[in-house]
Amino acid sequence: MYEKMKARLEKIVPDVELRYKAEIAVEINELKKQKNAVILGHNYMEPALFYSVPDFTGDSLDLSRKAAQTDKDIIVFCGVRFMAETAKILNPSKTVLLPAEKAGCSLAESITAEDVHALKAKFPGVPVVTYVNTYADVKAESDICCTSSNAAAVVESLHSDTVIFLPDEYLAKNVANETGKHIIFPTLAPQPPLPQAGEGVKGGEGQLDYQLIGWHGRCEVHEKFTVKDIEAVRAQFPDVVVLSHPECSPEVVAASNFSGSTNAMIRYVQQTKAPRYLVLTECAMGDNIAAANPEKDMLRLCMVRCPHMNTITMEETRDALKFNRYVIDVPEEIRVRAYRAVQRMLEIG
Ligand code: SF4
Repeated sequence: MYEKMKARLEKIVPDVELRYKAEIAVEINELKKQKNAVILGHNYMEPALFYSVPDFTGDSLDLSRKAAQTDKDIIVFCGVRFMAETAKILNPSKTVLLPAEKAGCSLAESITAEDVHALKAKFPGVPVVTYVNTYADVKAESDICCTSSNAAAVVESLHSDTVIFLPDEYLAKNVANETGKHIIFPTLAPQPPLPQAGEGVKGGEGQLDYQLIGWHGRCEVHEKFTVKDIEAVRAQFPDVVVLSHPECSPEVVAASNFSGSTNAMIRYVQQTKAPRYLVLTECAMGDNIAAANPEKDMLRLCMVRCPHMNTITMEETRDALKFNRYVIDVPEEIRVRAYRAVQRMLEIG
């Protein structure tokens, strides 16, 4: 295991850390066999974990598909809580374990099922799309889920003039730009009645021709990248190719050469020949891409880390299998409704 990890990671992870983590990886793989478990590893996992123990790695969409297909008894989700919940929604009879109990997400915490209820009451009949970065009770209130790889396709699949798109403000604005829709961010405080057709005031919440209705959730990592960051890196490395995640602001996305989900960014680096890239997403993914593409320079701005993804360590993953913790449960009444929204998304691809 040490040799295998060293071959991939010797330029990324110090040798002493590699030796220590290789021993834990051996323990994890042994436990995995004994317990008939599968380990899913999100692209944001630290390199030593990412390249040693997961049976499958990828973005939320990929891993949701893998979770739907597994025949193992236990799913260990090396990611955050909403991802493990999605695996449970798709696999009610299996045990789903999240290695760190408090691995949350600022987006998932930005909205509640009551908020979605209130939006549906305010905009009756308007279909609700929720990003997978939400908890099960919010998914249960939705018509369909989406990820950053299929958000625009999901919105377009609804063939609806107006769509409620929750909860990421920046992803919603980027989808609005991509699909040519305009967007409003409603207040849920009591408002005067909406005007009837023909009475709307252009540009305001009262107008009737709004097309995307958003929410002010943000990813606490991606919201921190700025156009100034890109300019500063370009001043130093004029040939740099800038890749940003669609949870970044529309200004950052516009200033980038490419914007896409974590998997799309990985593919972009594999398939293009540029010598140098700036990866505007969680820093660990920059490490993982650098390890897979040693002939390319991967610049990353690591001053911002995801405090939730970082709680998933190799030690916690081993202990999850050893002590059967932390078990993810979703009440059945919520699960069946959330399942419909997730399954509908998986059918779109
Ligand atoms: S990187 Fe952002 S969206 Fe992903 S888990 Fe962390 S806070 Fe949530």
